[in-house]
Amino acid sequence: MQIKSNPLVTSLKTAFIFLFILSAFFSFTGNAFSAGDPGGFFKMRVIHTNDTHGNIRKTWKSGRSDISEISAMREEINKKTPGSNILILDAGDFTDGKKRDPEAVAADMSAMAAAGYDAAALGNHEVKIGIEKIKEISKNSNLPIVCANLTSKETGEYVFKPYIIKDFGGVKVGILGFSTPKILESMNADELAKFNYAGIEDAYDKIIEKFKSECDVRIVLSHMGTDEDFKIAETHKKIKLIVGGHTPDPIDEPVFKSACCVVNTGKYGINVGMLDMTIDPESFEIKSADGVLKKVGDESEL
Ligand SMILES: [Zn+2]
Repeated sequence: MQIKSNPLVTSLKTAFIFLFILSAFFSFTGNAFSAGDPGGFFKMRVIHTNDTHGNIRKTWKSGRSDISEISAMREEINKKTPGSNILILDAGDFTDGKKRDPEAVAADMSAMAAAGYDAAALGNHEVKIGIEKIKEISKNSNLPIVCANLTSKETGEYVFKPYIIKDFGGVKVGILGFSTPKILESMNADELAKFNYAGIEDAYDKIIEKFKSECDVRIVLSHMGTDEDFKIAETHKKIKLIVGGHTPDPIDEPVFKSACCVVNTGKYGINVGMLDMTIDPESFEIKSADGVLKKVGDESEL
């Protein structure tokens, strides 16, 4: 015998099941999107530098080094909004290319790692101390260099990690690196025979499917120069942020190209950049991006 269900009971049951699924979903995703934002958007703070050229540990007249400034910024954010999603990034040329001193580079990279840097791009000046050397220092200092356009000619494998992923409570933020063709000028004959440099489009074509499948929010750490950064932003609309370097002119306020935000702090560590991003947790489109350059030094002091 078939029992006919009461339509009222059926719809109440359906509503109950729907509410149960909804509450389970929000309790699961709550951690990821709660960081100080009752609206449910994913918030991320990005502290960034580029082209510091061996000045990362410099003490300016104000009595603070870039590194202590960065640590102070991070502590301030954590104090105001505990549990914030913070990324600290450098877009390359953190070494003094004239001195070519591996010990100074090791000290810079260790200081950057201690200050909480998550990743750095490979600048042309880094390559001057030797690709194997900078790779060894990166490993020992525990500061990853990301570079998606340099591979071994023999094995085809990436020399550095093409990208890293930071997991902020379930939101996966991928940080992929690009280096300028100028690195070829910093390579010696052995290195030129050993390593293959790929242009941005070829390099991105090769990695895009994997990068896309593993990351919700795509960031590029670019040592390509601002003009190239704008082109990348306009061509690859799913990249949400380009932290740029190589061009010594600062971008005073974040520039939007397509749906991508492009930033650059200038040179010598005179400025430290701070960017607040609010991102839709479903489409991963940027809802807002407010950036400032904090002046911490002066060119006359160099
Ligand atoms: Zn450069």
